[in-house]
Amino acid sequence: MTRPFKETIFTLTTGPVNCYPAVLQALGRPVLYDYDPGFLKTYARVAEKLMAAMQTAKPPVILQGEPVLGLEAAAASVVSPDDVVLNLASGVYGDGYRYWLEPRCRDYLEIRTPFNEAINPADVAAMLEQRPDITVVAVCHHDTPSGTINPVAEIGALVAATKAVLIVDAVSSFGGMEILPNAAKADIFVTGPNKCLGCPPGLSFVAISEKGWAKIKANPRAPKGSILSILDWEHAWRPDQPFPFTPSVAEINGLEAALDLYLAEGPQAVWERHARTAAACRAGIRAMGLMLWAASEDIASPTATAVALPAGIDETQLRRIMHDDYGVMISSGRGETLNKLVRIGHMGPTAQPIYALTAVAALGAALNKLTAGCCDIGAGAAAVMATIDAA
Ligand SMILES: *Cc1c(COP(=O)(O)O)cnc(C)c1O
Repeated sequence: MTRPFKETIFTLTTGPVNCYPAVLQALGRPVLYDYDPGFLKTYARVAEKLMAAMQTAKPPVILQGEPVLGLEAAAASVVSPDDVVLNLASGVYGDGYRYWLEPRCRDYLEIRTPFNEAINPADVAAMLEQRPDITVVAVCHHDTPSGTINPVAEIGALVAATKAVLIVDAVSSFGGMEILPNAAKADIFVTGPNKCLGCPPGLSFVAISEKGWAKIKANPRAPKGSILSILDWEHAWRPDQPFPFTPSVAEINGLEAALDLYLAEGPQAVWERHARTAAACRAGIRAMGLMLWAASEDIASPTATAVALPAGIDETQLRRIMHDDYGVMISSGRGETLNKLVRIGHMGPTAQPIYALTAVAALGAALNKLTAGCCDIGAGAAAVMATIDAA
């Protein structure tokens, strides 16, 4: 028997995620003219709050499109035809970055791992030693389609000792765990509001080090007068400077509400909330008899849990049952991980430990409809609650 839900009750995806109610309210505020003194003040305040959240010395550049724009803009701004680029590919996003890097550089190198493992910093050290001509290194911190975390701070320390700049995709980890541009020694650090900050997709943030700015400014191919331009927006936060084009007024209002929530709760507390939710979810998944996708639990992300699909299960069918029978929406794999795993997001407002219970129970019940009862939902639920109580 199915009782189809007309609407999704729980969006437990890996992004976009449901927004915080305060963000939704802020998105509905009057849309001021971009040179209205009120909006100029808002924009300057948002730049300051973003600087506080990202702990940078200068305001990060805000670009007017969801974080894929920031990632393409970073490649376009940094990489010149003289560059030797090392891309670290441990998942679909890291691997996919090649598409923007390779056509722009002289030499494209990569280190690959299976998509359920993380990059080994020793391999990066060896490659940097072997190829001292490397000028750009790129890495995805949390490769979301795998739910795995790369050791970016260790990689950052290695790259910082060379002439190369480091581009980091921290789109789905910033705001949900300890990852900050300076501490990670990232030169170009790309993130956005639509994952762990609990905003809709629509903006990118790019935090840039002195070394990163020098590299971009020395690149004659760095876009200007373009939607891809980072340079155009360098000074946009200064009230005495014009915007290169109209900023997304409503998105900026929403972002301010999200930053207020993040800074008021305190980054440590927010990160801990994400970590506790993921730990409860992983415990439930395992106790129910399922396997994590990540090769080892120490690289499993605190902002998303990737669950390996049991053999013979079709993810579309599985996720349809979760949605139609229980009103729960989770994420599929992507690219190489499609139909090998499903993903439960713990991002922003859904990084609350009790949501792990909903996700685990709905996943187990849906799997049991497709198999001869492979999941012990009771054991899964008990493990979720025991993990919550133990924290
Ligand atoms: C979400 C995400 C992006 C942005 O891509 P989407 O179009 O929002 O899916 C980029 N990198 C990573 C690692 C992400 O998780």
